[in-house]
Amino acid sequence: MCFNKRNTMSKRYTITAALPYTNGPIHIGHLAGVYVPADIYARYMRLTGNDVAFICGSDEHGVPITIKAKKEGVTPQDIVDKYHAIIKQSFEDFGITFDNYSRTSAKIHHDTAQEFFKTLYNKNEFVEEVTEQLYDAEANQFLADRFVTGTCPKCGNEEAYGDQCENCGTSLNATDLINPKSAITGNVPTLKETKHWFLPLNKHEAFLREWILKGHKKDWKPNVYGQVKSWIDDGLRPRAVTRDLDWGIPVPVEGGEGKVLYVWFDAPIGYISSTKEWAAREGKNWEDYWKDENTKLVHFIGKDNIVFHCIIFPSMLKAEGSYILPDNVPANEFLNLEGKKLSTSKNWAVWLPEYLIDFPNQQDVLRYALTANAPESKDNDFTWKDFQARNNNELVAIFGNFINRVVVLTNKYYEGVIPEPSAYAAIDEETLAAVKAYPAVISSSIERYRFREASQELINLARLGNKYLADEEPWKTIKTDEARTKTVMFVALQIASALAVLSEPFLPFTSTKLKGILCHSELDSESKWEDISTKDVLIPANHKINKGELLFSKIEDETIQKQLDKLEANKKANEAANKATEPQKEEITFEDFTKLDLRVGTILEAEKMPKTKKLLVLKVDTGIDTRTIVSGIAESFKPEDVVGKRVTVLVNLAPRKLRGVESQGMILMTEDEGGNLVFVNPDVDGVNNGLQIS
Ligand SMILES: [Zn+2]
Repeated sequence: MCFNKRNTMSKRYTITAALPYTNGPIHIGHLAGVYVPADIYARYMRLTGNDVAFICGSDEHGVPITIKAKKEGVTPQDIVDKYHAIIKQSFEDFGITFDNYSRTSAKIHHDTAQEFFKTLYNKNEFVEEVTEQLYDAEANQFLADRFVTGTCPKCGNEEAYGDQCENCGTSLNATDLINPKSAITGNVPTLKETKHWFLPLNKHEAFLREWILKGHKKDWKPNVYGQVKSWIDDGLRPRAVTRDLDWGIPVPVEGGEGKVLYVWFDAPIGYISSTKEWAAREGKNWEDYWKDENTKLVHFIGKDNIVFHCIIFPSMLKAEGSYILPDNVPANEFLNLEGKKLSTSKNWAVWLPEYLIDFPNQQDVLRYALTANAPESKDNDFTWKDFQARNNNELVAIFGNFINRVVVLTNKYYEGVIPEPSAYAAIDEETLAAVKAYPAVISSSIERYRFREASQELINLARLGNKYLADEEPWKTIKTDEARTKTVMFVALQIASALAVLSEPFLPFTSTKLKGILCHSELDSESKWEDISTKDVLIPANHKINKGELLFSKIEDETIQKQLDKLEANKKANEAANKATEPQKEEITFEDFTKLDLRVGTILEAEKMPKTKKLLVLKVDTGIDTRTIVSGIAESFKPEDVVGKRVTVLVNLAPRKLRGVESQGMILMTEDEGGNLVFVNPDVDGVNNGLQIS
């Protein structure tokens, strides 16, 4: 029997997941990039006997929330209350097992952040400076962060923000932007003097080089290490940690009136205050989780947060002096959707609350699809086709199929009672030995933050089970060799039991169901992660299991097509809503107007113009005559749909030939929200053809 050292060395882990910003619900990109991998890691660490604090909360300060509140005519508090509730619910729905989910508007957070600031202030860790900052005179407001956009000095992106360029990830000061523009009024800002406190990152450069570039060269992900190295090599500069704003945490020192802490100063402290809130509730000492050298601190984030978690926050922690530093920051790259960048503003996303309406109780399918295709080392694409394939070909055909066969046959042959095995054949020994190797293989992947790889190993275990059944064919031997059949079913049930335990981090809802089917809770001792590799029997003979239920079901093509159609429709509706209204044309005189002869008419006949996509040839009763008009509406209307329509016709437009057919006038059209053509029609009773419109 192998003795695994890791089992005896339980550790303390503080695992944080990026605080979601409360200006909208969360979508699949957030789940894939941060919350699913963090949850797999936290669940795994608990299963392997470690002391875990899995910490998160809503990030409720900062400029975008105030901008959204202004737009919607509500208070910033209304915005954060609304989305905090929605986001928290999504995490619960998807089985994200935070030990605490707090919010940065909580008093404990305001106190903790202010105390942190004061400590650095008293230690002279800030540089106090009166500088010229961008100012919007019309809005009577200083412009920082998202209040100002301009061209990124590094990559030339014309839509960079005052704190960061989302294109190249560079962290910026607002005054770095080329051609800055106020996001409030659109004005070109002026410069105005104001006092702020700066964290002199340049002062921490030597420490950062030593700690990250030397110390974490081997264990940090190459994408994270590479970004950090390039920033340090570019030279670090002081960063303002206060803002002239009224939404946020007041600066708690003299001269700080009317100023708040920069959201990126207070947000990561949110991990600390959320831990405090949890510890107070659970009767623990929060300092064990933040100030004990033996605690491993791991930050799960997306790549846009690397600079804050690898440079700014560690510099703050170091300057404070009593905190541990992160052991790792396994940031993911971005997830795209159907080949395009996920975008909240363009509504190009799969929102979690909507997913659950369309795919009720199928959280694990999404968790799995996002893990199996996670953007771990490069940007990756979520496609509905891949989602369907992951479900049908892996979860249904491999995992679900194996479990279903084991459970159905056990019930059919033995009324659900696990049979006594006879002596093992070589293949049984080999198979059980292979099962015992899985915990170490999956652990190794998870501990190196390779969750995709880990999820595929889990499926490989189910594959092993399927192959074993296919090779041993208990459905055939049941007629010829009862003893052999019992042994095969016993071995297969051991594999099913191992899957119930090892699937928990990845497929928590399925794991619970499977444990229920196998009646794990009625075992003398329920297996833990390490038991899979050490115990010879995971589920004993004579233990009774339940009837099965399907763990996964096939997703049909039409279900996937509906999702694709929905995405397209969302995109169109969004484009229409955001379509800029055309500016007014040049002024005309009344006489110019009276030259237009507009009449009420009715379409009598319609047919498609051969060999064209857009054109319909119409016969229209204008009251004056019946004439031919060629209209470019064939993509929006079928000929039979427009016959009988009341329309507005410009009758004195000079005739012109289209594809050899003379068009004698024009029918007035406009567009609806979705960009579809609609008739400008006088649809009122008693309005006769030929009446003038004036
Ligand atoms: Zn840039």
